[in-house]
Amino acid sequence: MLATLIYRSQPTGAFDPSGLAELVGKAWLQNVQLQVTGILLFDGEHFLQVLEGPLASVNTVFARINHDTRHHNVVELLRDFAPHRRFANHGMLLLDLQKQRPAAVLRAILRFGTLKYQLASNDRVYKFIRHFIASSGHTAGVRHTAPDQWRFVVKTPPFLTGAAPDSADQPCQFAFQPIIEPQREKISSLEALIRGPGGGSPQEYFSTIAPEKLHEADLASKGWALAMARRLGIGNHKVAINLLPMSLVKIPGAVDILLDHITRNHLRPGQIIVEVTEDEVISGYEEFTWAIRQLRAAGIGLAIDDFGSGFAGLSLLAKFQPDKLKIDRTLVTDIHLHGPKQAIVKAIIECCAELQIAVVAEGVEKIEEWCWLEAVGIQRFQGFLFARPMLNGVSPVSWPQRVIK
Ligand code: C2E
Ligand code: MN
Ligand code: MN
Repeated sequence: MLATLIYRSQPTGAFDPSGLAELVGKAWLQNVQLQVTGILLFDGEHFLQVLEGPLASVNTVFARINHDTRHHNVVELLRDFAPHRRFANHGMLLLDLQKQRPAAVLRAILRFGTLKYQLASNDRVYKFIRHFIASSGHTAGVRHTAPDQWRFVVKTPPFLTGAAPDSADQPCQFAFQPIIEPQREKISSLEALIRGPGGGSPQEYFSTIAPEKLHEADLASKGWALAMARRLGIGNHKVAINLLPMSLVKIPGAVDILLDHITRNHLRPGQIIVEVTEDEVISGYEEFTWAIRQLRAAGIGLAIDDFGSGFAGLSLLAKFQPDKLKIDRTLVTDIHLHGPKQAIVKAIIECCAELQIAVVAEGVEKIEEWCWLEAVGIQRFQGFLFARPMLNGVSPVSWPQRVIK
């Protein structure tokens, strides 16, 4: 199958502009052996390259490109399949925008067509090229700080770092994970994540519950979560708890039960954030709406969890505007390398800014991911990079600090 890949990157100090033509010549020879064809555009600040060929060959060439130290910030923009090559006659053709006028480059590209494939101005790859040329001179990418400008300082938060469960025979336990604002060195909330009596995962724990008891157990477990939060000495900090939406729908008086857990543990409703995901089973939207109104009326916060995964959360967002929206890990992972994820996350941020919804990035594991997300304006983060969940406790937090050189 004929694969197409487009990426964008920036030259590093190791790149010698005068050697560009030679570099492309070498690439041509290597590509021909692998049956890879394509074009390379350079505007002095960014590269845009189109690669076409058998999927395995394109992957091989792209892996090699990724390791080339003469450029960095390599962001994949498009991966697609096509019936014919667009640039069949070119092992690798260089288009230097510093030497040719944009209009001439675009005209030339349209003439590259072969008898088999005549490139048209509505071709998607052509449109990527046109967009690159049009935005040349502006930053095609996000200007983020380099990972080596940061070091991590580990600090223990002012909570208990590990406690015994409340009672030896409690049905479940909770692990707590901080959601932080690195720029302010502030813990914005602690998420309570359910664990089995032996420390097993949420999935493991819920699999031991009879299906008809699932929602009851989910709601009841929040009593244990909040009791532990209190024992950890969370003071005025906020606690986020996860609930299946149907736990608020199916259990009569669910919100009152929750409020009871809150007051019994000497917490305020305003300290609690309920995280819900849009899962398939929200069958009673009317009852769910009613439960959400009660939560809001009591002063409890609401977050949409796992936004952008599976059931995307979009219809939930259209119906309820939560205080917080948590961008799912599937969008966060390797965002610094991936154009489509970047475009989606930028749109989410814009939408949330318009609706005054706070955004949290979940599952941040790499410093590069954090640098990119921070640069587009996200302030709240949760992930192993900063702190892992800790059973019956809160682990120390690794705070990024700018290295002064
Ligand atoms: P979630 O609410 O999205 O919670 C975040 C999950 O991501 C947690 O997994 C956490 O350990 C994990 N995580 C956090 N940072 C990272 C990271 O940097 N990398 C990776 N790979 N993972 C990270 P956990 O504790 O296994 O929870 C899984 C899911 O189980 C939760 O996802 C939530 O949907 C559900 N869950 C947890 N507690 C409850 C609960 O009390 N009730 C209900 N209904 N669901 C719960
Ligand atoms: Mn959650
Ligand atoms: Mn989540």
